[in-house]
Amino acid sequence: MILAENPSVMSLEGTNTWILRAPDSDECIVIDPGPLDEGHLARVAQVPVAMTLISHRHFDHTEGGERFAELTGSPVHAVTPEHRHGGGTALSDGDVVEAAGLRVRVLATPGHTADSLSFVLEDDRSVLTADTILGRGTTVLDDVDGDLGDYLGSLRAYIELGPGYTVLPGHGAELPDLETIARGYLAHRRNGSTRCATRCAPSATMSRRDGSSNTSMRTSTSPCGERPRSR
Ligand SMILES: [Zn+2]
Repeated sequence: MILAENPSVMSLEGTNTWILRAPDSDECIVIDPGPLDEGHLARVAQVPVAMTLISHRHFDHTEGGERFAELTGSPVHAVTPEHRHGGGTALSDGDVVEAAGLRVRVLATPGHTADSLSFVLEDDRSVLTADTILGRGTTVLDDVDGDLGDYLGSLRAYIELGPGYTVLPGHGAELPDLETIARGYLAHRRNGSTRCATRCAPSATMSRRDGSSNTSMRTSTSPCGERPRSR
């Protein structure tokens, strides 16, 4: 996991750029290139990149995508056409990506934004949750296309995965058990904190558009690069 140097109130320490690969693979899959920061992108590109997957459209996750495709000569896949680069194609719910010795299942988890995806690594029992579940604090819903009903549905989709999945979030540190966290969030939202979630969304969105982000590196089972910072 490489942390981008774009800390802010909303991006916590910055955006996590995740680098995934099987222990015996020479290549990796990158989740969210993060901001357009040459130093950050160069650190991420140290391992040959098979492809990059975009979790959702927010600037702090996607801004560096076009440059990263150029740097690595590899495709950037995304839901939204404007975030696809280097021959990248569409991602949608249920897609299975096989690369870098890994099998990654695309799980649509709308709510934070309409296009939010999570990426499930069944073999590693982990889920990249992007901004749908953060390393700490609660996420906010985008004022343009965030939706509380969708968000609650996404929490239920996490619960349906079952116990024992590690959370690899888009900001903040990893967390031990997605099912437990999703159940807690669901109870929290049901208990009247929905008003706060809705009311807080505009300022959160603005902060996020400032473009903070970080890169984090993780392999599915072994590290595949340096850790410029500990988190
Ligand atoms: Zn976001």
